[in-house]
Amino acid sequence: MSDAPVLRMESVRKTFAGSVVLRDVELAVAPHTVTALIGASGSGKSTLLRCANLLEEIDDGAIWLDDEEITDPRVDQDAVRRRIGVVFQSYNLFPHMTVLDNVTLAPRRVHGVPRDEAEERARELLERLGLGPKAKAYPDRLSGGQQQRVAIVRALAVRPRLLLLDEITAALDPELVGEVLEVVRGLKDDGMTMMLATHEMGFARDVADQVCFLDGGVVLERGTAEQVFGDPQQERTRRFLRRIV
Ligand code: ADP
Ligand code: MG
Repeated sequence: MSDAPVLRMESVRKTFAGSVVLRDVELAVAPHTVTALIGASGSGKSTLLRCANLLEEIDDGAIWLDDEEITDPRVDQDAVRRRIGVVFQSYNLFPHMTVLDNVTLAPRRVHGVPRDEAEERARELLERLGLGPKAKAYPDRLSGGQQQRVAIVRALAVRPRLLLLDEITAALDPELVGEVLEVVRGLKDDGMTMMLATHEMGFARDVADQVCFLDGGVVLERGTAEQVFGDPQQERTRRFLRRIV
């Protein structure tokens, strides 16, 4: 069925050295929608994203990508990760490689896409994200916002089923935040399915179809952006929003 969730978490539990970091997390990300994870530092947003990408092993529960249970021990984890794009707060571009080489590395090495084809696709994406003239530049010649946009292009280059974005504007100078958020908005318009952790409440409110408020590893409140921001049901959510907005 076409509107079956792209990602689904069921009773996910994650501990680090005995302390519970995610507790009974239930989550579904529908195709072509944006889910925003909000919550204080340490509430478990990054861990949730890392579990979704199998960068962390969960203690209990299950996670599905489309109709495959990716937490099944028999699953090929690398194959799963190839279907999920991830962008972190730090762009982690290879400094000794051009923008074009940064972007085509994974398609060529991991997915076996021929160079010509990988470069054509990369140039198309760079063009779309306003980075066409930067294809042959090295990362240190780019602004932080441009580098982060390259990191997004790199994640998109492998045609992921799902894109996970963890605080991708947190390391940027305030004047560069807008251009990166604009890219995310454009990807949403193109139908990309995304889950993102963010402190940009205005952005979350604007772009998210679903908002989940995490508190101490629990999804304490969830709903449409309008519900969670406009009419939060939990006192903790209200307190968090009052403090941050
Ligand atoms: P957020 O992204 O919302 O700030 P995190 O997912 O990074 O929250 O962290 C949630 C909790 O898990 C925090 O208490 C953090 O200290 C703990 N934590 C995260 N990663 C690790 C780790 N690798 N080892 C031990 N504790 C961790
Ligand atoms: Mg985090």
